[in-house]
This record gives sequence, structure tokens and C-alpha cells, in this order.
Amino acid sequence: MYPKLSLYINGQFVSEDGRAMQDVINPATQEVLGKLPHASQADLDAALHAAEKAFATWKKSSPMDRSAILRKVGQLTRDRAKDIARNMTLDQGKPLAEALGEVVGCADHCDWHAEECRRIYGRVILPRSPEVRQFALKEPIGVCVAFTPWNFPYNQAIRKICAAIGAGCTIILKGPEDSPSAVMAIAQMFHDAGLPPGVLNLVWGEPAKVSDYLIRSPISRKVSFTGSVPVGKMLAALAGAHMKRATMELGGHSPVLVFEDADVDRAATMLAKFKIRNAGQVCVSPTRFYVHKKVYDNFLAKFTDVLKSIKVGNGLDDGVEMGPLAHERRVPAIARFVEDARKRGAQIVMGGDAVAGKGFFFPPTVITGLQDDALLMTEEPFGPIAPVVPFSDTDEVIRRANSLPFGLSSYVFTNSLQTATKVSNAIEAGMVNINHFGSALPETPFGGIKDSGIGSEGGTETFDGYLVTKFVTQV
Ligand code: NAD
Repeated sequence: MYPKLSLYINGQFVSEDGRAMQDVINPATQEVLGKLPHASQADLDAALHAAEKAFATWKKSSPMDRSAILRKVGQLTRDRAKDIARNMTLDQGKPLAEALGEVVGCADHCDWHAEECRRIYGRVILPRSPEVRQFALKEPIGVCVAFTPWNFPYNQAIRKICAAIGAGCTIILKGPEDSPSAVMAIAQMFHDAGLPPGVLNLVWGEPAKVSDYLIRSPISRKVSFTGSVPVGKMLAALAGAHMKRATMELGGHSPVLVFEDADVDRAATMLAKFKIRNAGQVCVSPTRFYVHKKVYDNFLAKFTDVLKSIKVGNGLDDGVEMGPLAHERRVPAIARFVEDARKRGAQIVMGGDAVAGKGFFFPPTVITGLQDDALLMTEEPFGPIAPVVPFSDTDEVIRRANSLPFGLSSYVFTNSLQTATKVSNAIEAGMVNINHFGSALPETPFGGIKDSGIGSEGGTETFDGYLVTKFVTQV
């Protein structure tokens, strides 16, 4: 059964009661799965006041108690993973195995934050006079407001919630209206784990209106957003205007560098499978494929072979490896990249046109013969579409890889230690993956540089954005 959708404010699940309602659509069938209530202004005020009131006590709570709740949510995540994953496939579209992997992986995020929140330390600073004692203390920043997207509905939300709650903050989260069931499940688990009312609040609505109201409120002290670069810049500007801390996990345009000494078959197979993960709707998806001219033909042949074997369909069906795009807006958004490539005389090696019939399906698409200034080479596509272009020289490919304003992830395939070191030093990205894909684990920092964002989630850095430093000196 698809869950009943509601707001969660001050420990209460509240629904219809005269509120505007939005249909939630299954992207594989276009059937209506449920109705999502939008928060009224009174609901947003109630959430802000609940979070403010709860902060007064939660900030003084023992890290052991916070840790116990996070651990309990980790366990509930494992216990309920199958139902949560099935509902995520229904409202987001990704294949069931991927959805299950996301949910189970998030139990580890809960455990990591449960462990790390017991290790939030300050420090003692040696004084200039013996009678003075000096401390730098870390304190929770206050009420946080967070906005999470639809591509990894469970993962994106749980990382922000665990970091805020573990640090001793309270949080109001606006989840993704297109794919809300995973965030609903998170609220239910924290409720069942005994989180005090008001520490976590969940709202839905028109994204721009909700974020504007919550960020402007004098009650909120910190903003965390995952989503596109243009929206992130707007929200960061608003946060700046009100002098609020901001963590921004924004889009990327991850370059892939395949050198002539790489294991080309292995690289092409791994990259093809990674490219279609979540139908390419991944901020760290490999996006621009630069392949050394000596191995270009071999790479392209293997890459397209693997992509041609991918079974596309309803994520609940057996053997399906790629589902539909998550919502209707994505189909013309992807078609726009193909249209630009066609106009430029590029070759559409496979795919290229949306699949007719029910559902928002777009096939794996490979394009060659593109110039570096083509739309697909410069704007984040966020779909199952891959441009493959040749290069001939290491310095040239580093320059091309660094030529965009983004700096999220990057992928390098080489068997030369010298090349691996040179490229990882030179590449302008928050994350560099060499010969494998290893980002986004709970214990490792995840974040971008340049236009791709501010701050990191995960790793020992995870609480940095949620803590303020207070200096105390006493005689
Ligand atoms: P969109 O830009 O309208 O929305 C992207 C996300 O931001 C959604 O979750 C949306 O609810 C939220 N959002 C939009 N405007 C907002 C606002 N003013 N305040 C708060 N939240 C707001 O477009 P879309 O079609 O849903 O997604 C398209 C683009 O979004 C993609 O091309 C990709 O670049 C980006 N995106 C990035 C991520 C990521 O993980 N970095 C995730 C989802 C989408």
C-alpha cells in the first residue's frame, strides 16, 4: 500500500483539513498514487515555532540520547527497507534493487552520525597568563531549514536530518513533492524512535514559496539545500542577505578521463552501468566522456554494447536495470540536449528519442562528434545521455575537464601511477574517483567546489555546518 501523505509538525501527522492537495504520479505508469497536502502559512509558522521551542531543550540533550535515537532509526530503516524501497520505486521510478540499496545504505548513514555525534569536541587553548583558562566550545547553530530533491529521496533527506539532529539542532525539512514517500517514512521512523516533538518537522508545498518563507524567518539560523545550481545560488543569496549559514550540494558536470593505458573494457563496462544508474539523474553521474584517441573506438564499441543490453522498464518488474525519468518535466529537458546536438551535426549513436506510450521513459543515449561548447558538454543533463569525445594529450584533457564552472565529481581511468597523481592534483573537483566509484559513503566527505556548492556532508566534516564556535575565557 502506498502510504498516506501528510505534514509532520510538532510531533503530529496532519493532512487534508482544507489544505491544497497535489497529486503524486507514478512516472512509469502515470497513475495517481496519492495526494500530498501543501503547508499553509499557518503550518509553516507552526513548524518554525515548534522547532524553536524544541531547540531550547534539544540543544542541552545528551549526545548519548541523540546517538540512541539515530541508531534506532538506523535499525528501523533496515527493518522497513523493503516497503520503503517499493514505495520509492512507485513514486520515483528507479529499479527496486537500486531503491533497496539506497535505503539500506542509509542505515549506515544513521549509524555513522550516531557514532560521530558523541565525538563533537571543543578545545582548550593555552593561555598567556597562568590564571586564565580558555576554551573553544562547539554549540548547535539552532533551527535549520532544509530542502531535498527527488533523485535520492531517502539519502538526501536522511543525511541532513541526521547531521542536524546529531549536532543538537532542530530541523524543518521540505521534501521532494514529486517523490514524497521516502521522506514520509523517515518522519514516521523518528516519531517511532521517540524523537521529542518539534525536533524534526516535515512540510511540503510550492518549493519557492516555502523556502522563501522559511529562510527569511528570524527563527531559522541555517539553510541546507540539495538541487540545481541556479536554485542553489538563489537560496544562498537569500541566506546571505539574512546572514544565515548555508550548505549547498548542487549540480555537477562530472568529467570522465579514460587514458590509453587504462583497462578499457573494464572502464567502458563500469561507466555504462554507472551512467544509467537512477536513469542518469545523479549529481555525480559521469557526464562528459573524454577518451584517449588511441582507445576511443574500442571504448565506444564496448560502452554502447553494454548500454544496448540494459533492460529499461517499470522499476518493479524483474530484471529492469533502468526505470523512467522521475517526472514529466525531465523528458523535454533531455530531448533539448539531443536537439542541440542534432542541429550541430553530431552523431546520435544510440537512443535519442523519448519512448512513446505511458510513462516518462527516455532510452540510454550516446552522442559523438560534439564540440566542447555544445549544450550537452556544458550544461548538466541529469539523464541517461552520454557524449563521448576523443583527446590526445594529458594537459589538454585536464584543461578541458576544468573548463566548466562546476566542480563536483570526476572519474579517471589509468594504470599509470604518475598520470593518476598528476590528474588528481590538477582536477578542479570536490571528489576524484580513480579506477573505481567510491564517493558518498557515510564516513567520507561529499561535496563540491566552484559552482557545485559550499560545504560537505558525511565524513568527520558532517557536523561542521550545524555547529558554531563559542570562545570562553575565564580567570
Ligand atoms: P528544479 O530546479 O525545479 O528542482 C530541483 C530541486 O530543487 C527539486 O527538488 C525542487 O523541489 C527544488 N527547488 C526548486 N526551486 C526551489 C526553491 N526556490 N526553493 C527550494 N527548493 C527548490 O528542476 P527539476 O526539473 O525538478 O530538476 C532539474 C534539475 O535539478 C536537474 O537538471 C539537476 O541539475 C537539479 N537536481 C539536482 C539534484 C542534486 O542531487 N544535486 C537533485 C535533483 C535535481
